[in-house]
Parts: sequence; C-alpha cells; structure tokens
Amino acid sequence: MPPAFLHPFASPASDDYTTIVRGEGAVVFDADGNRYVDALASLWYCGVGHGRQEMIAAITAQLEALEAFHTFERYTNEPAETLTNELASLAPLPGARVFLADSGSEAVDSAIKLARLAHFLGGDEDRTLIVSRQHAYHGVTLGGTSAQGLPANREGFGELLPRVEVEHDDLDHVERVMAERGGEVSIVLAEPVIGAGGVRPPEPGYLEGLRALCDEHGALLCFDEVICAFGRLGRWWGAERYGVVPDLVTFAKGVTSGYIPLGGVLVGRKVRERLEADPGYVLRHGHTYSGHPVACAAGVAAIDILRSDGLLERAVTVGERLVAGLTSLVDGERILSVRGEGALRAVELAAHVPVAAVRDAMRERGVISRAIPPSTIAFCPPLVIGDDDLDLCVEVLGDAIEAVSP
Ligand code: PLP
Repeated sequence: MPPAFLHPFASPASDDYTTIVRGEGAVVFDADGNRYVDALASLWYCGVGHGRQEMIAAITAQLEALEAFHTFERYTNEPAETLTNELASLAPLPGARVFLADSGSEAVDSAIKLARLAHFLGGDEDRTLIVSRQHAYHGVTLGGTSAQGLPANREGFGELLPRVEVEHDDLDHVERVMAERGGEVSIVLAEPVIGAGGVRPPEPGYLEGLRALCDEHGALLCFDEVICAFGRLGRWWGAERYGVVPDLVTFAKGVTSGYIPLGGVLVGRKVRERLEADPGYVLRHGHTYSGHPVACAAGVAAIDILRSDGLLERAVTVGERLVAGLTSLVDGERILSVRGEGALRAVELAAHVPVAAVRDAMRERGVISRAIPPSTIAFCPPLVIGDDDLDLCVEVLGDAIEAVSP
C-alpha cells in the first residue's frame, strides 16, 4: 500500500522508500543507521554540508527575532535586505537587483515573466517566445516545464508556452531560429553547465555566441544557475566561470544549501530600467514568501560559510580529485568517459551497463549518486567532502559497475 506522501519524481505505486534521519558534512544516515556519502549534495544543493551549527544558529536566531512577515508593497525585513545587497554585489552582471522566490522553478517562471514584461514595457508585446536547449532542465512549473528539453518531463501536461528547442551546443541552430523568428524571441534560457539533463559543459564559445545572437536580435539572455552558482564551478556564478554577462540569472539550491527553500532572479540593467521607468508602474508579480526572513537569514549564513571555509577554492580541488579518480576507471568498455566542470562531474557508461542498477549497487555500498538515463552517473558532492569520502565514491562506482555489468 503506497504511503500518504505522494512523492515527487517517483512511481506513485511504489511503497519502497528510505528514511533519511540525520546528516553531518558530506554524509547522511538512514533510519536503520546506515551511513551514506551524499555524492549529489542531496539534489545538487547542499554545498556547505549537512548539520552545520552556524546555519542552525542563524536560522534559529531569525525565528526568534521574526519568524515571517511579507514583503509586498512597502514592507521589508533585515535579512532580505542583507541578502539582496550581498547578492547584488556578488552578481556577475552590473547594476543588478534581486527578485526573491522560493524555488528554482519559481525563479525560472519569474525570469520568463520578467523578460516578457520588459519587452511589453518597451512597447514590444509580441516578444513571448522562449528559446531553450535540448537536455535542459528548468523546473516543473508550467513555464519551466515549457522551457525544459527533457521530453519525458513535458509529456501529459497539455498545451505549454510557445518555445523553440535548439540542438545541444549548436550555435548555427540558434542563428537559424533567430534569423526566422528573432523578433518574437523574448528570452534565451541556458544552464551554463546543463545539470540534471546529464552534466554537460558548454562547447568553447557557445555561451559567448548566445550572448552575441541575443544582442543582435534584441532577446534577453538568462543563465539558469540553479545548480551552477554558489561555488559549484569554483566561482560564485557559472557566468563568471565562462566570462559571459547575461541579462538575467536564476538561482536557488546552493544559495541556502537547502536548509530553507529559497530561489530568485538577478535582474540586470536592461530589465530593471524598463521596470523602473514609470514611477507609477506596479510590478504585479511576487510570492507570499518572497523575501522570507528565515530563508534569507539562511542565505546570508550559507554565503558566509562558502566564503570563510574557502569552498569556492575547495570546489576546484574536489573536482580535480574526482576527475583523476573517475578517469582512472575509464576502460573504453564499461566506462567510456568523464565530463563536467568544478565539483559537478559525471561518467558516461557503455550502453550495455544498466545505469539504474549501478546507482542501486552504489547505494548498497554506502554512496548515494544519481543515475541520469540512459547512461550517466552524476556526482555533485557537498563542497566540504573530505578526500577519503571522495575516493570512496570512485572505489564504490568501480565495484558497483563490476557487480552489475553483464
Ligand atoms: N533550474 C535548474 C537548472 C535546476 O537544476 C532545477 C532543479 O534541479 C530547477 C531549475 C528547478 O528547481 P526547483 O526544483 O527548486 O524548483
């Protein structure tokens, strides 16, 4: 009999779940006391590691001071002000303001709406088309579902927003779309490194090419940095890592390391100037919990830890050690290649190796990784992971493949 909890991205008929009860650094424990290395930082978010006392203290102190009060119209709170000032000063685009939401999906929908609004306010209301990439994951609200390039996730939800999918890393395709429909394009959405769709870094020049095409055709460029930001690629932002300046940036996950849900959009000059042009204009978009003080206090604390623990630098060494280990397993028969950037990496398995069975065999051996069908195992560990646990991830991957390969 399935439980009352209807799980996300799971079979509704299943009744087989693992109860996670506790976490510490890069490790979590289940209700039976089993220890697992959390090789995916939960769902790509827990950069600062589990169970951090500084996070708990900051969240508790904010709960005691003010648990919540909305930020619509004239109201604000100190953590929301502190966090948005901090994010604006770290932002990879000049003069940015920060819109706050509760998740990555809401951030993506907000970016899609803000882009449309900016065109509308500029007298160009026909610009509503989204251009996004094959393999992209942009969340599950209707906007994010429309924008994502994973066909299975779009199926069954009826009519979605107008969108053109461009082939992975094919700038010529984007150029053709722009030549035909450039005047309709509102937003070009791209993850700097595609995460959930298979850990795929961009070809050199690809993101620069998107920037140039957006400029030429009057479209806004949005980087979806829900996974890439907050140190994952060794910098605060993927935009910084690749040296390309977008018009909008969506973020979530790592901003609080998941201690409290939070997402948002960095809103660059082109968009904010349109929004600010008429002092009588009211932005009719926002969430009950936009600027939630406890979530924002968690964000401020997580950024402090990323800085004080040197976790951006650590992401680079984590990535290097992981790549060295994973590469040593490449045999051209079962493990074909390693790809990724910073502390976001994956291995490509041969078609005959059952990827879900590898993931399950890794879990039985104490490492939680992510299988991305048809043939990818992804790694995105907490940035605080120690070398021993990193090496364990590699060893266990090798053992699991050995155990389940035909
Ligand atoms: N955008 C990207 C790039 C993501 O990786 C995700 C989640 O994995 C989302 C958006 C959606 O975020 P959420 O699940 O918080 O709604």
